[in-house]
Amino acid sequence: MSSTMVDDQHVVIDASASCSKEHQLECDTQYQDHCSYYKLVHTEQLGRHLVANCDISAGTSILIDHPLVVGPSVWAKLVCLGCNDAIDPLTVYVCSKCLWPLCSEKCENSVIHKPECEILSKDSTESRWGHPMDLTQESPLYDLIIVIRCLLLRSQNPQAWKLLETMVSHSEKRMSNKLDPHHKGTVEFIKRHLVKDDFERNEISHVRGVIYSNAIAYSRKSRVRLRALYPVHSMINHSCLPNLHLSITDDGSMQVRATVDIKKNEMLTDTYTGTVVPFWERQNILNDTYYFTCNCLLCIDPTELGSYFSSHRCLKCPGFFMCPKIINNEINVLCNNCNDSKTLTNIKQDLDKWETRLKLIDIFGKSSPHEVEMEIK
Ligand SMILES: [Zn+2]
Ligand SMILES: [Zn+2]
Ligand SMILES: [Zn+2]
Ligand SMILES: [Zn+2]
Ligand SMILES: [Zn+2]
Repeated sequence: MSSTMVDDQHVVIDASASCSKEHQLECDTQYQDHCSYYKLVHTEQLGRHLVANCDISAGTSILIDHPLVVGPSVWAKLVCLGCNDAIDPLTVYVCSKCLWPLCSEKCENSVIHKPECEILSKDSTESRWGHPMDLTQESPLYDLIIVIRCLLLRSQNPQAWKLLETMVSHSEKRMSNKLDPHHKGTVEFIKRHLVKDDFERNEISHVRGVIYSNAIAYSRKSRVRLRALYPVHSMINHSCLPNLHLSITDDGSMQVRATVDIKKNEMLTDTYTGTVVPFWERQNILNDTYYFTCNCLLCIDPTELGSYFSSHRCLKCPGFFMCPKIINNEINVLCNNCNDSKTLTNIKQDLDKWETRLKLIDIFGKSSPHEVEMEIK
């Protein structure tokens, strides 16, 4: 584990990448031995988050974070629960106790699978693994695994469990969210059929909420899709204009680099939505999954810092349909030049059409954006 809670607001981090010796001497954190590129702060408005502990130049690797827990993606094709890697459907091995697919007997007895196997074996419902099913299809049952692995931390790694307890989960909102009944349904299923008296509903709900609020999805070389929870990364706030970039290796360790120069005390940010989605899509994801509205520099500027990234080009004149800052599909959007109007729904439909046409042509076979434009005109 790479960090330890000291109190509500301070985490001492085994910084794999710490700042210079000279800086360590003047560093104002009270945990000087563990001086690193970032420190944890807490404000009323932004909650717990990380800021730069010193000036950081673009490209610097500021952190290597190791996952507290790793598990399959929400919907996943065959993943071995013993080694978190892909299984060939033709040579699948079925666990003798829980009946979940694995790659071998060795994986049945692995340290990752053994404890959860005991819990999964309690499942006596119709939907359990082992019933005839098409092994080449993705299964939503994989959503259970990372939640169970987190619950197991309570006895396996009390320090990690403590850290997990302090993470954001929006548990109550998720339990009462009528638009997303899966949360309550999954919690209920785990409580009734798997963990029974060992865990309370609010603990299961918190853990699943923590995963949905903080876990990072990534793919291994075998293309198996996984999710992992990172102790330090979970404290990094969102911005649609992030100053950090993540990369995750096959063993799950995450390297975090600065993409731009960052000043001391500036907030460190990552994107929870990806940077190539329009304003309305970013805000929908952030509202529905993370329960907040983004007010970053990109989101509050109608031109998105002059990029007009979410503003549709007018086909009647050289103007733009300026992206409205209130997301309502029926709102009328005006061209900033000729006052022609469209609803946001019209704009989304147009975008879909263009996207389909773009997918049909070989973009990388063209030598310039102009050539692509000529072909779709
Ligand atoms: Zn320092
Ligand atoms: Zn395996
Ligand atoms: Zn098993
Ligand atoms: Zn934003
Ligand atoms: Zn116009």
